[in-house]
Amino acid sequence: MPYGLNHGMSKTPSCPICTKSPEDAFKPFCSKRCADVDLGRWLKGSYAIPGVDGEATIPANDTNPDADITFRDDD
Ligand SMILES: [Zn+2]
Repeated sequence: MPYGLNHGMSKTPSCPICTKSPEDAFKPFCSKRCADVDLGRWLKGSYAIPGVDGEATIPANDTNPDADITFRDDD
């Protein structure tokens, strides 16, 4: 029952980017474009590393788990 949590909710959510009605394939977004916009914002936020003056202070474990997003393309 994957949609059990939403079942019974009369309020229809809108696309957080443009507030149109979401498409099932891109929920909660209305389109792949809006999903990409949101993902882009998200990634920019994750990558926003404050001023490093040419000196890289990257830890040994430099893999960013936040960036490792499995982006499903349900075409
Ligand atoms: Zn949208």
